[in-house]
Amino acid sequence: RAKREGRGRYHYFSQDLTHAARARLELESALRSAIENGELRAYFQPQIDIRSGHLVGAEALVRWHKNGDRVIAPDAFIPLAEETGLIVPLGEWMLREACHQASSWPARRGNPLGVAVNVAAAQIRRADFADMVLGILAGSGLPPERLELELTESSLQGEEDAGLAQLARLRDAGVRIAIDDFGTGYSSLAYLKRLPLDVLKIDRSFVEHVVNRRDDREIVTAIVQIGRTLGFKVIAEGVETQAQLDILDGLACDLYQGYLCSKPLPAEDFMAFAKHGTALGNRSPQ
Ligand code: C2E
Ligand code: MG
Ligand code: MG
Ligand code: MG
Repeated sequence: RAKREGRGRYHYFSQDLTHAARARLELESALRSAIENGELRAYFQPQIDIRSGHLVGAEALVRWHKNGDRVIAPDAFIPLAEETGLIVPLGEWMLREACHQASSWPARRGNPLGVAVNVAAAQIRRADFADMVLGILAGSGLPPERLELELTESSLQGEEDAGLAQLARLRDAGVRIAIDDFGTGYSSLAYLKRLPLDVLKIDRSFVEHVVNRRDDREIVTAIVQIGRTLGFKVIAEGVETQAQLDILDGLACDLYQGYLCSKPLPAEDFMAFAKHGTALGNRSPQ
């Protein structure tokens, strides 16, 4: 009897796996055609200077408008895109779209708005990465100083010198380099010092409890201090409440982004936000 149950369970389990494998294949081919058929969209989340409250730019975040209506968030397809290599054409498309959009944004009080784009490890491993970025900048007319590339600690870890040399080349051209989700990886300070770097982005997980948990507040304090010591700007992500912002302000953290100001907005809504300082209508942004 036990045997039969065991076999039954196994059978059930393997059917489950087959189902999962098929779903994965379907997702992969749907994503492949999404890139070709223009189903991807760049959304833009405002980035704010904490001291002045001024808008300084936006982070570009990908959304998949599947079959026209359903909007799929990146967590549902970026990991698969990374496993299959689709992240390379996806990332290049996002970079081109983000630079194209940003080239038409108005300056705010004489300061041009920047755009930050997420870059995956597989992208910087390609020998033509820096040329690709510089080509897109030239094509869009966006000055390199207005582009920031976000890389995670883990995608930089173990990166051979060739990858870092490409980032250094871009940085020499004026592009800023940011470490995303900072504090969740294993960067040593010696390693940080060696990287061609301009910005630390404090991971949302530390910001979330910065008001109530002393250890998270100490971590945020330490990150801001590391940033200041090494000459980097520090930006906090995932700021949702005024209480969180007040603490970050007190620590002299430079910038923030988060729902407190705005969710990521479709390009035309971000444009309206940039012009008037408010989001367009009350459409719920993704
Ligand atoms: P990330 O780069 O760390 O982006 C920040 C994420 O936090 C975004 O999720 C954003 O919508 C979300 N967020 C911002 N403010 C708040 C807040 O106040 N509260 C909460 N709860 N969440 C907030 P999203 O857009 O779902 O993106 C998830 C991740 O997907 C990104 O994390 C990034 O790692 C990846 N991703 C998105 N677009 C791209 C892309 O074009 N290329 C690559 N390689 N990765 C991307
Ligand atoms: Mg990011
Ligand atoms: Mg982040
Ligand atoms: Mg994050």
